[in-house]
Amino acid sequence: MARPSFRTNFDPCYGEAITVADTVQRITAPNQSAFTFYGTNTYIIGDKNVALIDPGPLPKADDICNHLDTILTALKGRSLTHIIITHTHMDHSPLSRELANITGAKTYGQGPHRNARALHLGEINLLDAAGDKDFVPDVFLKHGDIIEGDGFKLEAIFTPGHAMNHMAFALLDTQYLFSGDHVMAWATSIVAPPDGSMKDYMNSLDIFAERDETVYFPGHGGKVEKAKEFVRALRAHRKMRETAILHRFRKGDETIAEVVAVIYKNTDKRLHGAASLSVFAHIEDLLDKKLISCQGTPSLEAKYAPIV
Ligand SMILES: [Zn+2]
Repeated sequence: MARPSFRTNFDPCYGEAITVADTVQRITAPNQSAFTFYGTNTYIIGDKNVALIDPGPLPKADDICNHLDTILTALKGRSLTHIIITHTHMDHSPLSRELANITGAKTYGQGPHRNARALHLGEINLLDAAGDKDFVPDVFLKHGDIIEGDGFKLEAIFTPGHAMNHMAFALLDTQYLFSGDHVMAWATSIVAPPDGSMKDYMNSLDIFAERDETVYFPGHGGKVEKAKEFVRALRAHRKMRETAILHRFRKGDETIAEVVAVIYKNTDKRLHGAASLSVFAHIEDLLDKKLISCQGTPSLEAKYAPIV
Protein backbone atom coordinates (compact mmCIF):
# COMPACT_ATOMS: atom_id res chain seq x y z
CA MET A 1 0.00 0.00 0.00
CA ALA A 2 1.57 3.28 -1.10
CA ARG A 3 1.87 5.69 1.73
CA PRO A 4 3.92 8.89 1.72
CA SER A 5 6.53 8.95 4.48
CA PHE A 6 5.44 11.95 6.50
CA ARG A 7 8.02 13.69 8.67
CA THR A 8 6.85 15.23 11.90
CA ASN A 9 10.18 16.09 13.51
CA PHE A 10 10.45 19.86 13.35
CA ASP A 11 12.00 22.56 15.53
CA PRO A 12 10.09 25.81 14.97
CA CYS A 13 12.66 28.02 16.76
CA TYR A 14 9.96 30.60 17.55
CA GLY A 15 11.15 34.21 17.52
CA GLU A 16 14.15 33.50 15.28
CA ALA A 17 14.97 33.66 11.59
CA ILE A 18 16.63 30.35 10.66
CA THR A 19 18.75 29.96 7.54
CA VAL A 20 17.36 26.95 5.67
CA ALA A 21 19.27 27.38 2.40
CA ASP A 22 21.61 29.81 0.73
CA THR A 23 19.72 33.17 0.77
CA VAL A 24 16.57 31.59 2.28
CA GLN A 25 15.48 32.16 5.88
CA ARG A 26 12.47 30.75 7.68
CA ILE A 27 10.53 32.25 10.58
CA THR A 28 7.76 30.10 12.08
CA ALA A 29 4.80 31.97 13.55
CA PRO A 30 3.59 30.71 16.96
CA ASN A 31 0.08 29.78 15.72
CA GLN A 32 0.39 26.05 16.35
CA SER A 33 -2.76 23.89 16.06
CA ALA A 34 -4.00 20.54 14.74
CA PHE A 35 -4.35 22.15 11.30
CA THR A 36 -1.26 24.43 11.28
CA PHE A 37 1.22 22.00 12.93
CA TYR A 38 3.87 24.18 14.70
CA GLY A 39 2.57 27.32 12.95
CA THR A 40 2.87 29.12 9.63
CA ASN A 41 6.27 29.41 7.97
CA THR A 42 7.30 32.83 6.68
CA TYR A 43 10.23 32.76 4.24
CA ILE A 44 12.66 35.57 3.45
CA ILE A 45 14.49 35.26 0.13
CA GLY A 46 17.52 37.25 -0.96
CA ASP A 47 20.39 39.13 0.58
CA LYS A 48 20.03 42.91 0.93
CA ASN A 49 16.83 43.56 -0.99
CA VAL A 50 14.56 40.68 -0.11
CA ALA A 51 11.18 39.11 -0.84
CA LEU A 52 9.00 37.54 1.81
CA ILE A 53 6.55 34.68 1.28
CA ASP A 54 3.48 34.42 3.58
CA PRO A 55 3.67 37.03 6.37
CA GLY A 56 1.32 34.83 8.43
CA PRO A 57 -1.57 35.47 10.81
CA LEU A 58 -2.19 38.56 12.91
CA PRO A 59 -0.30 38.25 16.22
CA LYS A 60 -2.40 37.56 19.32
CA ALA A 61 -1.79 39.04 22.76
CA ASP A 62 -1.03 35.64 24.33
CA ASP A 63 1.38 34.43 21.59
CA ILE A 64 4.71 33.27 23.00
CA CYS A 65 6.39 35.83 20.72
CA ASN A 66 5.18 38.52 18.32
CA HIS A 67 5.58 37.28 14.75
CA LEU A 68 5.57 40.80 13.23
CA ASP A 69 8.36 41.88 15.59
CA THR A 70 10.39 38.80 14.64
CA ILE A 71 9.94 39.57 10.94
CA LEU A 72 10.90 43.24 11.38
CA THR A 73 14.00 42.28 13.40
CA ALA A 74 15.04 39.84 10.65
CA LEU A 75 14.57 42.59 8.04
CA LYS A 76 16.72 45.14 9.91
CA GLY A 77 19.35 46.68 7.65
CA ARG A 78 17.65 45.16 4.61
CA SER A 79 14.93 46.37 2.31
CA LEU A 80 11.72 44.39 1.68
CA THR A 81 10.80 44.60 -1.99
CA HIS A 82 8.04 41.98 -2.39
CA ILE A 83 5.38 40.51 -0.09
CA ILE A 84 4.20 37.30 -1.75
CA ILE A 85 1.14 35.29 -0.72
CA THR A 86 0.65 31.57 -1.44
CA HIS A 87 -3.08 31.70 -0.62
CA THR A 88 -5.64 33.63 1.37
CA HIS A 89 -6.21 31.51 4.45
CA MET A 90 -6.19 33.31 7.79
CA ASP A 91 -2.89 31.72 8.79
CA HIS A 92 -1.04 33.05 5.72
CA SER A 93 -2.08 36.46 4.38
CA PRO A 94 -3.56 38.78 7.10
CA LEU A 95 -0.24 40.18 8.34
CA SER A 96 0.54 41.38 4.79
CA ARG A 97 -1.47 44.59 5.33
CA GLU A 98 0.53 45.80 8.31
CA LEU A 99 3.82 44.66 6.83
CA ALA A 100 3.06 46.51 3.58
CA ASN A 101 2.14 49.65 5.54
CA ILE A 102 5.37 49.56 7.52
CA THR A 103 7.75 48.67 4.67
CA GLY A 104 6.01 50.10 1.61
CA ALA A 105 6.53 46.76 -0.23
CA LYS A 106 3.88 45.69 -2.74
CA THR A 107 1.83 42.55 -2.22
CA TYR A 108 1.70 39.75 -4.82
CA GLY A 109 -0.88 36.99 -5.09
CA GLN A 110 -3.19 35.16 -7.47
CA GLY A 111 -6.25 37.14 -6.40
CA PRO A 112 -8.81 37.60 -3.62
CA HIS A 113 -10.24 34.64 -1.71
CA ARG A 114 -12.91 32.62 -3.49
CA ASN A 115 -14.63 29.26 -3.14
CA ALA A 116 -14.19 26.37 -5.58
CA ARG A 117 -17.91 26.51 -6.36
CA ALA A 118 -21.04 28.36 -5.36
CA LEU A 119 -22.78 27.17 -2.21
CA HIS A 120 -25.65 24.73 -2.75
CA LEU A 121 -29.04 25.89 -1.53
CA GLY A 122 -29.00 25.83 2.28
CA GLU A 123 -25.34 24.76 2.44
CA ILE A 124 -23.12 26.26 5.11
CA ASN A 125 -19.42 26.75 4.36
CA LEU A 126 -17.79 25.19 7.42
CA LEU A 127 -14.47 26.75 6.44
CA ASP A 128 -15.86 30.24 5.89
CA ALA A 129 -13.86 31.68 8.80
CA ALA A 130 -10.64 30.26 7.34
CA GLY A 131 -10.68 32.67 4.37
CA ASP A 132 -9.01 36.10 4.51
CA LYS A 133 -11.65 38.00 2.52
CA ASP A 134 -9.91 41.36 2.96
CA PHE A 135 -6.82 40.49 0.97
CA VAL A 136 -6.47 42.04 -2.49
CA PRO A 137 -2.96 41.86 -3.98
CA ASP A 138 -1.33 44.97 -5.43
CA VAL A 139 0.01 42.75 -8.20
CA PHE A 140 -2.14 39.88 -9.55
CA LEU A 141 -0.08 36.83 -10.52
CA LYS A 142 -0.77 34.34 -13.31
CA HIS A 143 0.71 30.88 -13.80
CA GLY A 144 4.24 31.23 -15.16
CA ASP A 145 4.79 34.84 -14.10
CA ILE A 146 8.33 35.61 -12.96
CA ILE A 147 8.94 37.84 -9.97
CA GLU A 148 12.39 39.39 -10.37
CA GLY A 149 14.18 40.49 -7.25
CA ASP A 150 17.70 41.54 -6.40
CA GLY A 151 19.70 38.41 -7.24
CA PHE A 152 16.76 35.98 -7.37
CA LYS A 153 13.83 35.05 -9.59
CA LEU A 154 10.63 33.34 -8.45
CA GLU A 155 8.30 31.59 -10.87
CA ALA A 156 4.62 31.58 -9.88
CA ILE A 157 2.98 28.13 -10.20
CA PHE A 158 -0.83 28.15 -10.04
CA THR A 159 -1.84 25.19 -7.85
CA PRO A 160 -5.54 25.40 -6.89
CA GLY A 161 -7.13 22.68 -4.73
CA HIS A 162 -6.39 23.35 -1.05
CA ALA A 163 -7.42 26.93 -1.81
CA MET A 164 -8.61 28.15 -5.19
CA ASN A 165 -6.08 30.99 -5.39
CA HIS A 166 -3.12 28.88 -4.28
CA MET A 167 0.25 29.72 -5.82
CA ALA A 168 3.56 27.97 -5.27
CA PHE A 169 6.88 29.60 -6.15
CA ALA A 170 9.99 28.06 -7.67
CA LEU A 171 13.28 29.76 -6.87
CA LEU A 172 14.76 29.66 -10.35
CA ASP A 173 18.30 28.34 -10.89
CA THR A 174 18.07 26.33 -7.63
CA GLN A 175 16.39 23.04 -6.68
CA TYR A 176 14.01 24.87 -4.32
CA LEU A 177 10.28 25.39 -4.51
CA PHE A 178 8.04 27.11 -1.96
CA SER A 179 5.06 24.77 -1.90
CA GLY A 180 2.65 26.63 0.43
CA ASP A 181 -0.03 24.28 1.77
CA HIS A 182 -0.24 22.30 -1.48
CA VAL A 183 2.47 19.79 -0.52
CA MET A 184 3.84 19.54 3.02
CA ALA A 185 6.15 16.99 4.65
CA TRP A 186 4.19 16.58 7.92
CA ALA A 187 0.68 15.69 6.66
CA THR A 188 -1.67 15.66 3.71
CA SER A 189 -3.17 18.98 2.70
CA ILE A 190 -6.79 19.67 3.65
CA VAL A 191 -9.05 19.71 0.60
CA ALA A 192 -12.60 20.56 1.65
CA PRO A 193 -15.62 21.78 -0.35
CA PRO A 194 -16.75 24.39 -1.12
CA ASP A 195 -13.49 26.16 -0.24
CA GLY A 196 -11.33 23.65 -2.10
CA SER A 197 -11.64 21.09 -4.88
CA MET A 198 -10.18 17.57 -5.08
CA LYS A 199 -10.21 17.56 -8.88
CA ASP A 200 -8.13 20.75 -8.97
CA TYR A 201 -5.92 19.47 -6.16
CA MET A 202 -5.05 16.30 -8.11
CA ASN A 203 -4.34 18.31 -11.27
CA SER A 204 -2.09 20.59 -9.23
CA LEU A 205 -0.18 17.57 -7.92
CA ASP A 206 0.47 16.62 -11.54
CA ILE A 207 1.91 20.09 -12.15
CA PHE A 208 4.41 19.52 -9.33
CA ALA A 209 5.18 15.99 -10.55
CA GLU A 210 6.31 17.38 -13.90
CA ARG A 211 8.75 19.85 -12.37
CA ASP A 212 12.41 19.26 -11.57
CA GLU A 213 12.78 20.86 -8.12
CA THR A 214 13.87 18.34 -5.49
CA VAL A 215 13.39 20.28 -2.22
CA TYR A 216 10.18 22.02 -1.17
CA PHE A 217 9.79 24.58 1.60
CA PRO A 218 6.15 24.30 2.73
CA GLY A 219 3.76 26.61 4.61
CA HIS A 220 3.96 24.40 7.70
CA GLY A 221 6.68 22.14 9.10
CA GLY A 222 10.03 21.14 7.69
CA LYS A 223 11.24 20.79 4.13
CA VAL A 224 10.16 18.08 1.72
CA GLU A 225 13.14 16.16 0.37
CA LYS A 226 13.10 13.82 -2.64
CA ALA A 227 10.12 15.89 -3.65
CA LYS A 228 9.22 14.07 -6.88
CA GLU A 229 8.98 10.75 -5.08
CA PHE A 230 6.94 12.33 -2.30
CA VAL A 231 4.49 13.90 -4.76
CA ARG A 232 4.04 10.56 -6.51
CA ALA A 233 3.31 8.89 -3.15
CA LEU A 234 0.82 11.63 -2.22
CA ARG A 235 -0.94 11.10 -5.52
CA ALA A 236 -1.12 7.35 -5.01
CA HIS A 237 -2.40 7.89 -1.45
CA ARG A 238 -5.30 10.09 -2.68
CA LYS A 239 -6.12 7.63 -5.48
CA MET A 240 -6.19 4.81 -2.94
CA ARG A 241 -8.60 6.77 -0.77
CA GLU A 242 -10.82 7.45 -3.77
CA THR A 243 -10.87 3.73 -4.57
CA ALA A 244 -11.69 2.89 -0.94
CA ILE A 245 -14.63 5.34 -0.94
CA LEU A 246 -16.00 3.95 -4.19
CA HIS A 247 -15.60 0.44 -2.78
CA ARG A 248 -17.66 1.36 0.32
CA PHE A 249 -20.55 2.61 -1.85
CA ARG A 250 -20.36 -0.59 -3.89
CA LYS A 251 -20.55 -2.51 -0.61
CA GLY A 252 -23.82 -0.75 0.22
CA ASP A 253 -22.82 2.30 2.26
CA GLU A 254 -24.99 5.28 1.37
CA THR A 255 -23.76 8.17 3.48
CA ILE A 256 -20.49 9.95 4.23
CA ALA A 257 -20.88 9.06 7.92
CA GLU A 258 -20.99 5.33 7.08
CA VAL A 259 -17.93 5.61 4.82
CA VAL A 260 -15.95 7.62 7.41
CA ALA A 261 -16.80 5.12 10.17
CA VAL A 262 -15.09 2.35 8.18
CA ILE A 263 -12.26 4.11 6.33
CA TYR A 264 -11.21 6.20 9.32
CA LYS A 265 -11.90 3.60 12.01
CA ASN A 266 -8.34 3.92 13.32
CA THR A 267 -8.45 7.73 13.38
CA ASP A 268 -9.26 9.81 16.46
CA LYS A 269 -13.05 10.46 16.41
CA ARG A 270 -12.43 14.18 16.98
CA LEU A 271 -10.93 14.29 13.48
CA HIS A 272 -13.95 12.62 11.84
CA GLY A 273 -15.47 16.03 11.03
CA ALA A 274 -12.41 16.96 8.97
CA ALA A 275 -12.35 13.44 7.49
CA SER A 276 -15.99 13.85 6.39
CA LEU A 277 -15.07 17.00 4.46
CA SER A 278 -12.19 15.17 2.79
CA VAL A 279 -14.50 12.30 1.79
CA PHE A 280 -17.00 14.87 0.50
CA ALA A 281 -14.21 16.37 -1.66
CA HIS A 282 -13.56 12.92 -3.17
CA ILE A 283 -17.31 12.41 -3.65
CA GLU A 284 -17.60 15.61 -5.67
CA ASP A 285 -14.83 14.29 -7.91
CA LEU A 286 -16.55 10.86 -8.19
CA LEU A 287 -19.86 12.55 -9.07
CA ASP A 288 -18.04 14.59 -11.69
CA LYS A 289 -16.58 11.39 -13.18
CA LYS A 290 -20.08 9.84 -13.11
CA LEU A 291 -18.92 6.91 -10.96
CA ILE A 292 -21.52 7.59 -8.28
CA SER A 293 -24.87 9.36 -8.12
CA CYS A 294 -26.56 11.41 -5.43
CA GLN A 295 -30.18 11.61 -4.32
CA GLY A 296 -30.86 15.36 -4.50
CA THR A 297 -28.18 17.95 -3.86
CA PRO A 298 -24.74 16.64 -2.81
CA SER A 299 -24.02 17.43 0.83
CA LEU A 300 -22.43 15.96 3.95
CA GLU A 301 -25.79 14.36 4.80
CA ALA A 302 -26.97 13.26 1.32
CA LYS A 303 -27.32 9.65 0.14
CA TYR A 304 -25.06 8.32 -2.60
CA ALA A 305 -25.06 5.19 -4.79
CA PRO A 306 -22.53 3.64 -7.19
CA ILE A 307 -23.29 3.91 -10.92
CA VAL A 308 -21.05 0.99 -11.91
ZN1 LIG B 1 -1.77 27.09 6.18
